[in-house]
Amino acid sequence: MLIVQKYGGSSVANLELMENIAKRIIKTKESGASLVVVLSAQGKTTDNLTEIANQVNPEGDKRERDMLLSTGEQHSIALMALILQRLGYPAISLTGWQAGIATSADHQSARIQDIDTGRLEKELSKGNIVIVAGFQGITCYGDITTLGRGGSDTTAVALAAALKADACQIYTDVDGVYSADPRIVPDAVKLSEISYSEMMELASMGAKVLEKRSVGLAKKYQVPLWVKHSHKELAGTLIKEGDEMEGISISGVVANTNIARISVSGIQDMPGVWFKIFNAMNDANIAIDFVYQTKHGNGTKDISFIVESDRMADAKKAISDNAHKLSYTQITSDTDTAKVSVVSKGASANPGIPSLMFEVLFDAGINIDSVSTSEIRVSVLINKDHANHAAGIIHKKFLDEGYIKE
Ligand code: ASP
Ligand code: MG
Repeated sequence: MLIVQKYGGSSVANLELMENIAKRIIKTKESGASLVVVLSAQGKTTDNLTEIANQVNPEGDKRERDMLLSTGEQHSIALMALILQRLGYPAISLTGWQAGIATSADHQSARIQDIDTGRLEKELSKGNIVIVAGFQGITCYGDITTLGRGGSDTTAVALAAALKADACQIYTDVDGVYSADPRIVPDAVKLSEISYSEMMELASMGAKVLEKRSVGLAKKYQVPLWVKHSHKELAGTLIKEGDEMEGISISGVVANTNIARISVSGIQDMPGVWFKIFNAMNDANIAIDFVYQTKHGNGTKDISFIVESDRMADAKKAISDNAHKLSYTQITSDTDTAKVSVVSKGASANPGIPSLMFEVLFDAGINIDSVSTSEIRVSVLINKDHANHAAGIIHKKFLDEGYIKE
């Protein structure tokens, strides 16, 4: 039995917490499992390192940022290996490259391309608990990369897939996946199971419990993925392939306030402009959502779309770098908007779901700026000030109507 466990930054924030995690690791080891443990940087380390990098050089090279940010995880893994050794358990820490994690050269948002499991397997066969630095890898040029914020989840799932582990357990400061953020929506319920696709939607909609990419990877390689509480013995939530039943249930209501609207205005209304904008975003590796256009009488139009707020500057730059290919008058951006989404297996097949959601917003006098739907979600853009309230009342309605099940 091979298990990959991952502990997030808040779970290893100080030495006392690390000691507790060490006991948890030992318990799993004692059950007879082979064990790979992925750690994040302690607490707010990555935030702090980013802050320092910004102070030193806000325009700084991404390669150098990766060099700096990757030290956070290295710190955690060495400490954990030292603790486990003191407790009498053979343990070895490995950086991303020592663990064979080869990535693309997209510094700060690198993609895992391959994992050479040779070293990992060797250490496991010696009986070691292998502690791997999350969030990092190495390019074919030998440069250290990071995978993007929250990337340790992806490290864990990728290792589980490459090693064909029996389970990948993500330990965090919540006891599972909830139907809404319990800090904002007190009557949110913990889900015992959720499908990969719905979890991907929840993650991309701003539920912070798991990084979206990690769920996509788990789906691709069919890795059974658990979210569990780091310090409590609770069942957690299992993320797995959804059943094909057609029942309608809601798995979550999410408010995402970390989004920005980019508007490119005065674009010549002719074939190719959509392509050029999307192409620029694709080249810059920026995911976009809620694309809409407004046409003007004079042969021009404005195209607006939503990006994650921390990609706002990159998105504007990607467009202005392409100004020679695209004629427009200006690019503007704002962060006044939030996205509230209902994630549900039956969303597209069941107009009752958007209808109920819109009714709740109407009753509360909240104006909808834009709507987008997919097979498994309905999202609206509304004023950011109303986002949390809207999520709460929508959740309550669906809970009261029996759509949300534990
Ligand atoms: N330490 C990195 C971050 O804070 C990676 C992770 O925690 O998953 O984003
Ligand atoms: Mg995380």
